[in-house]
Amino acid sequence: MSSEVTRAVRLQDGWLVQVDLPNTHPVSQKGRFLFEALPSPNFNERPAGVEVDSVVVHCISLPERNHDATYPVDLFLNRLNTEAHPEFAELQGLEVSSHFIIDRQGKVLQFVSCDKRAWHAGVSAAMGRENFNHFSIGIELIGDIYSTFEPAQYTSLGELLALLRGTYALKFIFAHSEIAPARKTDPGPFFLWESFRKPNSYAIQLA
Ligand SMILES: [Zn+2]
Repeated sequence: MSSEVTRAVRLQDGWLVQVDLPNTHPVSQKGRFLFEALPSPNFNERPAGVEVDSVVVHCISLPERNHDATYPVDLFLNRLNTEAHPEFAELQGLEVSSHFIIDRQGKVLQFVSCDKRAWHAGVSAAMGRENFNHFSIGIELIGDIYSTFEPAQYTSLGELLALLRGTYALKFIFAHSEIAPARKTDPGPFFLWESFRKPNSYAIQLA
């Protein structure tokens, strides 16, 4: 890499892409997380005219409490061997996705263009609105509701949100448990909201 450029991340058609920016560029120090595109077939179109204004934060571990990203990735790509673990039997035939997974090292894996509708929220409602998949971006952190997340995951999440806000007018950030309280508990009590939203509010506020 030349010392005169910084490798940075940008969005193109809703996908993360790598660009080289001059070191003199005012934002060249942002958005330098590692990422990888792993296109999932599990998506469809957002409703016409919908504004993407929300983020839904999840956590995922397969089997539960295992912090390797391999099985969640396999799940989102419809290639999970459901005989690999007894817990996986109930996942047979499930077609799900999120826009992103952030692994324990802070690497960002992208499965669906943010311009498309990923299948992460399910039956959901908050603030008088339903079906959050229509207008939200889904971000899964590898982890579980029983343990803390890694600093590298928060760093990447913050940079990813800052990047997304350059393209989408994101106003709100929700826990999956807040939009589907009867069904979901993620990302759980150990997720630290302070850097991402205003106190006692769903309004995005980045540190
Ligand atoms: Zn979830």
